[in-house]
Amino acid sequence: MKSHAQVVVIGGGVVGCSVLYHLTKAGWRDVVLLERSELTSGSTWHAAGGMHTLNSDPNVAKLQHYTIELYKEIEEISGQSCSVHMPGGLMLADTPAWLDFLKVTQGTARVLGLETELISIEEAKERHPLINEKRFLGALYDPMEGHVDPSGVTHAYAKSARLGGAEIERFTRVVDLQPLKDGGWEVITDKGGIKAEHVVNCGGLWAREVGRMVGLELPVLAMEHHYLITDEMSEVSGRSQELPHCIDFGAEIYMRQEHGGLVMGTYERNCVPWSPKQTPWDFGHELLQPDMDRISGNLDMAFDHFPALETAGIKQVINGPFTFAPDGNPLVGPVRGLKNFWVACGVMAGFSQGGGVGLALSNWMVEGDPGMDVFAMDVARFGDYATMAYTNAKVRENYGRRFRITFPNEELPAARPLRTTAIYDRLKDANAVFGASYGMEHALWFAPEGVEPFETPTYRRSNAFEPAKAECKAVREAVGMTETAIFAKYEVTGPEAEGWLSHLLTNRMPREGRLVLTPMLNPAGKIIGDFTVAKVGPERFFIFGSGIAEDYHLRWFEQHLPESGVRLQSRSRDLQGFIIAGPKSRELLARLTDTDVSNAAFPFMDFRRMDLGMVPAWVGRINFTGDLGYELWVAPDDLRRLHADLLAAGEDLGLCQFGLRAILSLRLEKSYGTWAREYRPIYTPMEAGLDRFVDLRKNAFIGRDAVLKEKETGPKLRLVTFIVDVDEADVVGDEAVWRDGAVVGWVTSGGYAHHADCSVALAYVPAALANSEGNFEIEILGDRRPAKLQPEPLFDPQRERMLG
Ligand SMILES: Cc1cc2nc3c(=O)[nH]c(=O)nc-3n(C[C@H](O)[C@H](O)[C@H](O)COP(=O)(O)OP(=O)(O)OC[C@H]3O[C@@H](n4cnc5c(N)ncnc54)[C@H](O)[C@@H]3O)c2cc1C
Repeated sequence: MKSHAQVVVIGGGVVGCSVLYHLTKAGWRDVVLLERSELTSGSTWHAAGGMHTLNSDPNVAKLQHYTIELYKEIEEISGQSCSVHMPGGLMLADTPAWLDFLKVTQGTARVLGLETELISIEEAKERHPLINEKRFLGALYDPMEGHVDPSGVTHAYAKSARLGGAEIERFTRVVDLQPLKDGGWEVITDKGGIKAEHVVNCGGLWAREVGRMVGLELPVLAMEHHYLITDEMSEVSGRSQELPHCIDFGAEIYMRQEHGGLVMGTYERNCVPWSPKQTPWDFGHELLQPDMDRISGNLDMAFDHFPALETAGIKQVINGPFTFAPDGNPLVGPVRGLKNFWVACGVMAGFSQGGGVGLALSNWMVEGDPGMDVFAMDVARFGDYATMAYTNAKVRENYGRRFRITFPNEELPAARPLRTTAIYDRLKDANAVFGASYGMEHALWFAPEGVEPFETPTYRRSNAFEPAKAECKAVREAVGMTETAIFAKYEVTGPEAEGWLSHLLTNRMPREGRLVLTPMLNPAGKIIGDFTVAKVGPERFFIFGSGIAEDYHLRWFEQHLPESGVRLQSRSRDLQGFIIAGPKSRELLARLTDTDVSNAAFPFMDFRRMDLGMVPAWVGRINFTGDLGYELWVAPDDLRRLHADLLAAGEDLGLCQFGLRAILSLRLEKSYGTWAREYRPIYTPMEAGLDRFVDLRKNAFIGRDAVLKEKETGPKLRLVTFIVDVDEADVVGDEAVWRDGAVVGWVTSGGYAHHADCSVALAYVPAALANSEGNFEIEILGDRRPAKLQPEPLFDPQRERMLG
């Protein structure tokens, strides 16, 4: 074994071998993989090998597509067969809701350029004669589905990596990791040590334990998973063509052909975690004791849905563990706070995702950026709230719901409430319907008195529609207040603070007492953040950003922090507050303070310290509703008092509490985008319409060269607003935008703009089409609805309300 390597990859499952291969492909050849046993010795060896492209996140779906296409390449390089079978796959809907799901999935697949096809159940039966057609309503056919041999794939990656210069040491267990002064790692194994510049944790079933070697508690948990293999069946073995894969959402099973029989697996609702605290190091090529009772309900339904199954003999029952993150997507990327320590774990679909994970991670290590939008699988999408107990609750929920619809307006109940602010009970008393974001409870909308605060999950308009409309009306006609619990807040201080922020962010930093809006770019000029910055002292700034991206942004900030002169702190837990907005919001504010808040004394984009009643606060004249309004920030233990004082002072002004649904509606009328929807690392500020917040007069900031280049060539895409002629269902995001019979773009978000009284979609289209006339349509639930470009904001296009 070598004594030094540029990279040590820990773990020789499908993911570790893919990472190793991709590193060599990217030109890093001094790379070593350490495996405590034989390759495939974790969850990989007993996988069913199924693969598919579709994923609820289109960016992950793209990586799954890449993975499936990659098998040809590694077979060719290595000479090792992956036993790729591509019979295609059927998703079977047995209820109208599942039919809706298939239509939504088909729309997203179109955006991705995938050739999926909605077919009748009769057509499905022609492809898969074992189906009981009486039990289903329709199907989605995806030609990019199939299965591989897990061991073949892993060895094909491994051989390809070796041919690229990598070394693989089997039967070598990493027992500890020690940081070195130069930023590298001493990798201590049972066979000696290796000094590595970078370490990648691909420990699969042991990823948690490898994480603990560096003081990290990764949010991963292994679950027991059953599948069974039938004896040969005459209905299967005589066929000239392999049966397509099947997902039967009703019975919650997946199925595929294996030689002359079938493989059938299920994600049991009454699921069971495996080794929830600690994975034993001596767990080898073992299977777990099957528990047929756990899957008997699914089997009964499967017999009804596929009658030939009932008489089939069972050759083998497999019960094996594999790992999940709380939302079921992988954990990939550099770990905040640790230098040169990377993870690629929690990969629950290694044969659909392993290639994409390897590509993204190797790009990240070699180029400094994953090269694509991987937020949905970025390890930084979870914060410190994702403890082991949280992970346990969420993984069980996610596993048990694998074949259940999560509607776009649905908030799942596990691990809640976790974080609450001091007014949680007050909001509850006011009949709030809550959502959870980054562990924090926040009001989505308020149910009318006497009505149960519960939102019906649906693809169509829900019972939140009328209450949210009333909340929007109150904001536009009087004044509303809402909590800002889910914002991320940071404080930056020090003599170098301004210079550092100016280098990191695209806009000019504000004068003291003022605010600016600013994107943050990566060197390729793509948006990796959008913030509001307030200068609150000569060397002191507050930054407000998206709550769900807190760890993601802190990681970037910390990676770029100079050795001295700048101090960065998260203030998310100790700055809380409210937005008050609407034409009477100034009057409300004035009632609580002696500070002059007239337009002349406290203009748009000012940021001040003032007392609000008895509470010291920071107040910014800015808010996300596009109306006259303010953000009020106080210490958490002042929140209740301020809440009570605002309610009392606003009573005769028509003050109404509003929730996130109303904000998201109000901002549509201003065509304001949001992080993770309109603003993501696949778009540039010019494409997103944020170029007015990029100050090219500044000599240097990250991404400046790329912005200048784009100025010459022009943007490829443009974010536009459509008014959509809908029928009971608004867009949610990821719908296809059609023009003259072809898909030309995709929706990022939208919904009903209650004050403007129309349905709105924000979407990216090719820049050339952004101002064009033409017959645009947006596909909602399989229906192509006419859509009209809306060139200016629907509400207050001259900004008179906001500035007045
Ligand atoms: C029953 C079952 C059916 C499945 N079916 C499918 C399917 O149809 N399709 C699909 O895509 N996925 C399926 N999976 C999931 C799939 O197996 C996983 O996604 C995949 O195996 C994850 O691979 P990995 O490399 O991340 O982890 P693992 O396979 O667990 O690999 C981790 C490796 O790291 C090594 N290691 C850990 N710690 C150390 C250390 N300290 N030192 C050295 N080596 C170490 C381990 O020995 C192990 O070999 C299934 C899983 C199960 C259990």
